Amino acid sequence: MATTSASSAREILTGLHDVMASKASAQAKLNKVVNIIAEAMASEVCSIYLLRDGVLELFATVGLKQTAVHVTKLALGEGLVGTIAKDVAVLNLAEAASHPEFAYRPETGEELYHSFAGVPIVRKERSIGVLAVQHADPRAYDEIEIEALQTVAMVLSELIANAGLADKASVPIDNRDSGTARLLGQKLVLGLAKGHAVYHQPRVLIEHTVAEDIEAERHRVYSAFRKMREQIDAMTSAPEFGTVGEHQEILETYKMFAYDEGWSRRINEAIDSGLTAEAAIERVQQRTRMRMREIDDPLLAERMHDLDDLANRLLRIVSGQLGTAAQMALPSDAILIARNLGPAELLEYDRRKLKGVILEEGSLTAHVTIVARAMGVPMLGRIRDVRRQISEGDFVLLDGNEGVAHVRPTGSVEEAFEAKLAATQKQRAEFAAFKSLPSITTDGERLTVGINAGLRDDVEALALTGADAIGLFRTEFQFLVSATLPRREAQQRLYKAVLDAAGDKLVVFRTLDIGGDKALPYLRSDHHEEENPAMGWRALRLSLDRSALMKTQARALLEAGGGREILYIMFPMISEPWEFDAAKALVEEQKAWMIAKRKPVPLKIEYGAMLEVPALAEMLDQLLPKIDFLSIGTNDLTQFLFAADRSHPRLAERYDWLSPAILRFLQRVVNAARDHKVPVAVCGEMGGRTLEAMALIGLGIRRLSITPAAVGPIKAMIRSLDRGEAMKFLEELLESPPADMRAALAEWAEAHGVAMA
Ligand code: PEP
Ligand code: MG
Repeated sequence: MATTSASSAREILTGLHDVMASKASAQAKLNKVVNIIAEAMASEVCSIYLLRDGVLELFATVGLKQTAVHVTKLALGEGLVGTIAKDVAVLNLAEAASHPEFAYRPETGEELYHSFAGVPIVRKERSIGVLAVQHADPRAYDEIEIEALQTVAMVLSELIANAGLADKASVPIDNRDSGTARLLGQKLVLGLAKGHAVYHQPRVLIEHTVAEDIEAERHRVYSAFRKMREQIDAMTSAPEFGTVGEHQEILETYKMFAYDEGWSRRINEAIDSGLTAEAAIERVQQRTRMRMREIDDPLLAERMHDLDDLANRLLRIVSGQLGTAAQMALPSDAILIARNLGPAELLEYDRRKLKGVILEEGSLTAHVTIVARAMGVPMLGRIRDVRRQISEGDFVLLDGNEGVAHVRPTGSVEEAFEAKLAATQKQRAEFAAFKSLPSITTDGERLTVGINAGLRDDVEALALTGADAIGLFRTEFQFLVSATLPRREAQQRLYKAVLDAAGDKLVVFRTLDIGGDKALPYLRSDHHEEENPAMGWRALRLSLDRSALMKTQARALLEAGGGREILYIMFPMISEPWEFDAAKALVEEQKAWMIAKRKPVPLKIEYGAMLEVPALAEMLDQLLPKIDFLSIGTNDLTQFLFAADRSHPRLAERYDWLSPAILRFLQRVVNAARDHKVPVAVCGEMGGRTLEAMALIGLGIRRLSITPAAVGPIKAMIRSLDRGEAMKFLEELLESPPADMRAALAEWAEAHGVAMA
């Protein structure tokens, strides 16, 4: 069967090859194509209909009346041709007139013909036309003939798209992504965005479908398979340093498909029929997608989706189109669609054009989420099958506040969204009014609200929000956006620019926190097999081992702070007090060297420790006397307290920051710091949420460092809060915690008129 199918299609493709390469007009080419197909299939009629302005127009025919060309038109869903285009499905009928959708068109003279077979001409998974053959005998076409027609339709889609003959892929492929859709996801970054969908890994557009040299195409596919298998093997056996999202389960499925003989055989057969490597992969994929639409079993459908993913990977390899959308021309209103992203990948996007992000995975405190928050880009996570639900170019309204994405929305949905947008802009303007007001509670306590930053541009947020400080400057972001290790001069320039821009507001520089989900391709773990990178060789552990890296950074910081009053330096992921000593000694050593060389240094350095590893909380009596300030990183701290990976999509909503375990833990730390008179701040994402921040203040926290967008709402909350009352309430609450801590806090806030955004 397979070989006959291949030769049948091959016969036609050989004929088409010269037509495609000729300089004739597109119309002349189509006229020739129908003749070639009709002859090869010994059919009396062969016609091509193309979608123009939403209507299917007879464009070329042999067998039907020529006067009907450009005259006969069918709406989508009308007649057999309209049904094929609408459903993106094949029709194979022995007696055309007996089909319920049959619509007789006298101008064509088609009453002479009984049997009918038609296939959709597909581009970007959508119909742009229909190719049909008809016979006078009432007989159904066999599978080989249908296969051949589908292969030819694929080649035609190239010709049609290149000539710009049809509408740009406008008919949705199936019911699932037709019309408007409302997708529910997890709110990762609040905010509203509207724009057009862009795939992080764009679908490969196939430029050449007919092979010049079949053996060469086969060779290309073989080597692409080899490369893809190597990639998958590398991912499964040794997860890349810090790779996020590619979870074991998916990787196992990838692996299964990557080695699936059936798949590679089918691609090979498609090459035999005369297709290029790209077209052959796509042809097999089209068949799979068609089957996918008929599958009811959600698990199986998901697996097929993984196969689709893998086919795209194979296509990217074979076509050499390896870049992400960040390297391509973005629309000015891009809504990025991806299974998952690393923070560095997100940072590659042009901030002016990126309006929103929708992920299939994602979690609240994964660094990619933190980066999106810092970029002010609303983000929605955990939307199943996102790339089947949203097509490239779809218009999307992303409501990060409600956790909803409206895809291809109706006018009324868009209107409601616009109203919401206007309301949030108004609210933002109201929050902006807090810019010049201090963060003082109703009982007169002045608190500090700083921002978290990481890039030079983030500093602007200091002035825009009226925040008191940069409470956390994540120095690794500069490393994440660079292709190579940033040199000392570049580091120093950044730190100096940040200090200059911050003016008299303090900046706390955190030394490199590389590792975990912040992978640097140019700096890999010595031990490739990090199974738990978040608990692996990261942050200060890496910096102390690679002391040259840390010394360079220390020098850059000291140079940037040269001659200034105070420089604030903080070390991440300290697990035991000696690590603080070692890190401080390293900086002091650099300082001494600079002094010896008569280079300007800061007059004073304040050293801080981040508390993110629970073990350190047991050693506070030893740590606190050594340090100038403490900053609690609740993102890492909670992942370690609950033993729940902060990047794991399945655990994304499982544990609450407002759980008694976390709050009690924090209470203990705050009390110890108070006893040692060491200032303590919270710089994790928790502090940027109004209810959580209220609880933290109730525990005695006076300093928060948060994402810039949260400054307004947090200030509003602080200015409506009686700190003394909140502290009393928290004390009581933690003595005997209620089952639902969150509800109890929300109720209290409401009863006490605390402004909650
Ligand atoms: C934290 O862990 O809470 C923190 C602030 O650091 P990061 O999110 O960069 O790990
Ligand atoms: Mg951390």
